[in-house]
Amino acid sequence: MTNKLTETAPRIFYDCTKCPAFCCGIYERVSVTKRDLNRLARYFSVTVEVATRRYTKLWGKSERVLRRTPDPLLGEACRFLDRQTRGCSIYHGRPNVCREYPARPRCAYYDVLQFERTQQDDPDVLPLFQITFRKAE
Ligand code: SF4
Ligand code: SF4
Repeated sequence: MTNKLTETAPRIFYDCTKCPAFCCGIYERVSVTKRDLNRLARYFSVTVEVATRRYTKLWGKSERVLRRTPDPLLGEACRFLDRQTRGCSIYHGRPNVCREYPARPRCAYYDVLQFERTQQDDPDVLPLFQITFRKAE
């Protein structure tokens, strides 16, 4: 007898519950779409205008991103990251990009976390990342 669920479910090599939520901290831009804004508004029972103003800001001329606040571990992080549990405080209202990330069986940041904990022989060590993007000429 075969188990279809096991056969088709992709194997995942990271565990967000054992990670300080690097992805919610290192990316300065967590983009929100109109659909995300509608979802946020519904989640908080406010108008789309209020949700847009309160929870997001403009990045550049036209991109709308989630607001960020200081974070004791990563310096700065999404304002919706729960600083105690390191989980998303608006899980059912989070933007689509957060739902899809990392969109592959491995998470590079989780891999580095595990790598450094082994390398430093310290199960609690926290490697810190900063990532910026520029065009390669
Ligand atoms: S950085 Fe990777 S492992 Fe950590 S919370 Fe984000 S997706 Fe999960
Ligand atoms: S909305 Fe939640 S999952 Fe998305 S960046 Fe913020 S804390 Fe992380």
